[in-house]
Amino acid sequence: ASFVDVKSVEKTYFTPSGVVHALGPISFSFDRGQTVGIVGPSGCGKSTMLKVLAGLEDRTRGEITVQSRNVNGPLDDVGVVFQKDLLLDWRTVLENVLLPAELRGRVDEKIRTRARNLLEELGVSGFENNQPWELSGGMRQRVSIARALLLKPSMLFLDEPFSALDALTRDKMNVIVQRLQMHEEVTTFFITHSIAEAVFLSDRVIVMSDRPGRIIDDIEVGIPKPRT
Ligand code: ADP
Ligand code: ADP
Repeated sequence: ASFVDVKSVEKTYFTPSGVVHALGPISFSFDRGQTVGIVGPSGCGKSTMLKVLAGLEDRTRGEITVQSRNVNGPLDDVGVVFQKDLLLDWRTVLENVLLPAELRGRVDEKIRTRARNLLEELGVSGFENNQPWELSGGMRQRVSIARALLLKPSMLFLDEPFSALDALTRDKMNVIVQRLQMHEEVTTFFITHSIAEAVFLSDRVIVMSDRPGRIIDDIEVGIPKPRT
């Protein structure tokens, strides 16, 4: 078995205004340490797939196993970053990054050092004691990524994290994330509407089409990173 196996997974939303078949059935697997890019037109089910995989939405049908264990409900050790960062403006940058540890009652000097190191790796050192509203959009997203990685999750989910940023900032972010991938052992699932971005950051690119939420291509790119 692979690290993650997705078998015939489907998602249908039942809403007061009707039934939306948003995803699948889709099946695919990925290995530990891989970065999987997801591209496809708006509304094709990328976010739905990410939320179902991360356990933020229930699936309607199908099976997901992580390390051969059947998954139902939220996964414990995942980090998620959305297009809109969810930083708390009344907390400092460092306090935002420490939030996941605080919620688990696990703030100590070791985790503070980890938070500072992540901020440094992401090029946000020197801003630990600033408030998020004092930072640029690109920096805020880097703080979000630091927060998502704090507790060393086995999987990181990024849903168009840079699409609200200007092109130059986006390029810079991609280089920073690529550098980060060399140090952090985290399986990454990355949604983008830029194929160039997907190819740059991913070991593998999954292409989805709408009508309804299917995988139409699955491409290995570049030199696969060593897998553990
Ligand atoms: P993408 O991320 O590729 O833009 P989404 O996964 O957001 O696509 O959406 C796929 C389809 O499911 C769309 O038709 C969208 O309107 C619908 N959808 C997404 N989330 C919900 C929801 N919470 N309730 C009802 N329909 C939804
Ligand atoms: P994206 O395409 O980047 O996922 P959207 O603007 O389509 O962003 O959706 C924003 C949020 O609203 C998502 O969390 C999605 O699940 C939800 N959503 C999308 N379409 C619908 C819908 N028809 N009804 C309810 N929620 C929806």
